[in-house]
Amino acid sequence: MVTPPIPPAEDANNALNPDSLKGVPITAFPKWVKCPACDLIAPLDIGVFALKEDPYHPDKTRFVHSNCDKVTGGPPPVLPVRFVRSCNNGHLDDFPWRDFVCGRNSGCNGALRLYEFGVSAQADDIVVKCGTCQKSSPMTVAFSEAGKALIGKCRGKHPHLGIQEKCDEESKSMLAGASVAARHCAFGPGARWQLSLPVDHVGGLSLIFRALAGGGALLAGGTTTGETHRSLVATQLRRLLDGDETPDLQCLLLGGGPIVAPLRQAALEAGLPLVVSYGLTETGAMVTASAPDDPPELLTHPHYAGRLLVPGTVAVSDDGIVQIKGPMLCQAMADDDGVPRSPTLTDGWLSTGDLGRLEGDRLFVTGRRDNVMISGGEKLAAEELEAALLALDGVLEAVVVPVDDVEFGQRPGAFLRWAAGQERSLEEIRRELEDRLASWKMPMALWPLPDHVGFKPDRAALTRLANPR
Ligand SMILES: [Zn+2]
Ligand SMILES: [Zn+2]
Ligand SMILES: [Zn+2]
Repeated sequence: MVTPPIPPAEDANNALNPDSLKGVPITAFPKWVKCPACDLIAPLDIGVFALKEDPYHPDKTRFVHSNCDKVTGGPPPVLPVRFVRSCNNGHLDDFPWRDFVCGRNSGCNGALRLYEFGVSAQADDIVVKCGTCQKSSPMTVAFSEAGKALIGKCRGKHPHLGIQEKCDEESKSMLAGASVAARHCAFGPGARWQLSLPVDHVGGLSLIFRALAGGGALLAGGTTTGETHRSLVATQLRRLLDGDETPDLQCLLLGGGPIVAPLRQAALEAGLPLVVSYGLTETGAMVTASAPDDPPELLTHPHYAGRLLVPGTVAVSDDGIVQIKGPMLCQAMADDDGVPRSPTLTDGWLSTGDLGRLEGDRLFVTGRRDNVMISGGEKLAAEELEAALLALDGVLEAVVVPVDDVEFGQRPGAFLRWAAGQERSLEEIRRELEDRLASWKMPMALWPLPDHVGFKPDRAALTRLANPR
């Protein structure tokens, strides 16, 4: 038996001292932080920033800018900088700030300041300047061809695991789309976002990025203490509204697919601070979100997906498909075998496969192109029939899929989840839908919706179920 290692008494509070790594070890990343008062950016380990411990509230322990000359009432807490670099193999590293501003191997060690203008959080509104050599560089350079050369080869780091390996990939700048989202939702220090979505889904994963970018905290394990923000998909919102819980929130972010009008209406009537949004796995975060001054009639519009968070990043093609462009597009996504595959872009635009339209900077998404079936030569969007079904009493979930039909080509069939004791027959449902839907849009079959793993039903699997070969 040996006694456990006890850190030496002096310096025990220094998080950078390896001896003090007790409990669950965490690593500060990015190492570069910014003082929001004087705009200074520097690595945590050069002694400019001090760890301010709160022994009674460990969650309030943070790094502060001890000798900040811009603040009189105590040293301001610092925030992680919002730019890092990464490679296609998934390595993460600090952005090479010194080389980027003063030039490669310049030997300059002047104080660097990162100035942000405007509120868009876009790269062209951000400039970094050195106080000694007086050189400065806008962040747009980091995303240009010149910037690529400057950022150079990947150093193969996994900062959160503390390991380094050999890597031959180019390193690229990453502006977390999350930082725009965090700012839009006012998710900064003091705010708490419940980790209400699975982290193997982009909705949950982006919460982690958003916390890193904005400085807010995440609540895991179902805790709701001090909760200010929550993300939900349609099914979860319905459960919330049906339950007894009345959360006191600043932001209830909806996403992950269509949200029908009655559900939006019920959420507003329950006094929930609804924010509707739109994004893809490929964008890592939302690209549109509703604004606080959007009127209720817009928020309850079944297709309204919010306003562009960054101008010029969303367009709609002539055939009505939503297109996305910009630094928030991912470099690659791993396929089932773990091989990174870059998304196919046309002139930099990613075609989303979602049908929509823009009205000024407001996006309306009407459905997935893949969910449009052709019935007797007419186009029918699954979402339209799903919305009609969800408006009926006792229908909790509805998924409409095309069913091959000799006469019509395809006809809609519906998988429904019923509230207890409310099940009804196909004939009854068709009668209830009579004055809302043309006869050719009516479901030709009903099935009970099988329990699904995850929070969204697998549309492709249900289509196969409805069309046995
Ligand atoms: Zn400062
Ligand atoms: Zn310099
Ligand atoms: Zn790498």
